[in-house]
Amino acid sequence: MITGEQIPLVDLVTPHQELEEELVSVFKAALKTARFIGGPMVEAFEREFAEFCDARHCVGVGSGTDALRFALIAGGVQPGDTVVTVPNTFIATTEAISQAGARPDFVDVDDRTYTMDPEKLRSYLEIGCTRDVKTNQAVSKRTGGPVTAVIPVHLYGQMADMDPILDLAAQYNLIVVEDACQAHGAEYLSKRGNGWRKAGSMGHAAAFSFYPGKNLGACGEAGAITTNDEQLARRCQMLRDHGQSRKYFHDLEGYNGRLDAIQAGLLRVKLRHLAKWNEQRRERARDYDELFANAEGAVVLPHVPIWSRPVYHLYVVRVSDREQLQMGLTAAGIGTGIHYPVPLHLSKPYEALRLRPGDFPVAEQAASQVLSLPMFPGLSPERQRLIVTKVLQSIAVRETGALR
Ligand SMILES: *Cc1c(COP(=O)(O)O)cnc(C)c1O
Repeated sequence: MITGEQIPLVDLVTPHQELEEELVSVFKAALKTARFIGGPMVEAFEREFAEFCDARHCVGVGSGTDALRFALIAGGVQPGDTVVTVPNTFIATTEAISQAGARPDFVDVDDRTYTMDPEKLRSYLEIGCTRDVKTNQAVSKRTGGPVTAVIPVHLYGQMADMDPILDLAAQYNLIVVEDACQAHGAEYLSKRGNGWRKAGSMGHAAAFSFYPGKNLGACGEAGAITTNDEQLARRCQMLRDHGQSRKYFHDLEGYNGRLDAIQAGLLRVKLRHLAKWNEQRRERARDYDELFANAEGAVVLPHVPIWSRPVYHLYVVRVSDREQLQMGLTAAGIGTGIHYPVPLHLSKPYEALRLRPGDFPVAEQAASQVLSLPMFPGLSPERQRLIVTKVLQSIAVRETGALR
């Protein structure tokens, strides 16, 4: 089955080669001033990225994990609080909750979008919690702590169903931090917000990662918080820089979580291409959808509700025998990924929560069936046809095998 040609899950080399001159000139400019941390390059990127997200403020930080942690702390999450999110996300989401001193708790996802199911959030708040008569805050029956924040995760490039989540958050006095680490440029048709709204503009704050493989990636580690709340932005600025309000005057203990100027400069170059790259990803997704159209049932395709304009950080299909398909594609030289194989409630660090298989059945089934196919702006239609052919072959082999 070896075709000779390898098709990677993502191609990080080509876009950087195409932009090589511009990227190198950023580095040379930085050497001239030696302003490596903070400064005008970081501020310019923050202005431009805030504008891209239709948010008022952007605070550049060291990673997406920093962004989540600082947004939670700056939003007011206190040690002992409970923060609710979904089980099928990258562990950084729950690490940030724990690092803010809070405890993670989970609600299940929708079985078509894999993002937080607002009805499950509602029943969690109504049935999985009691109401503290003094503070009127929901108290988790599982953790015993007050539920003060929710993190909807915009997974695979598609936003969570934000309107009902924001309604519940308002009703239960919850801080909303969007995990937008996979959703740079994704949009949501909001009745509350009167039209299409960008990821990063809807919650009290949002966290972005610029890890190299994301839709907007640095050439190293980087992240950002976006928010419309000036006070929250101010607190994030202090948290990322040892709690300083000015040099060596510390209002609080913070972290070393700054964005460095070279990464900010590289991100500025790449940000100018992001809208085009996202459009190319959408075209690739449309091609996949069409090529798979006759395989309905055997291959479950990404579902896009009418309220969503995703940016396809990943193109994730679902099949009944995922391991077999992944092996078949690997043998054919096609890169794949599993995002994510273990739902976090069944992951070792969260054993103390005493959650069991069956507690979040939708996330668990997704974890056993999802497979990410190659997706990047420069993926060629010819390669896509080859990938789809190999997928269909692999599935057909399995089915005739099963009949025998
Ligand atoms: C990448 C990612 C993060 C963490 O970002 P880092 O920059 O690697 O810290 C958090 N949440 C999700 C959903 C991610 O995909």
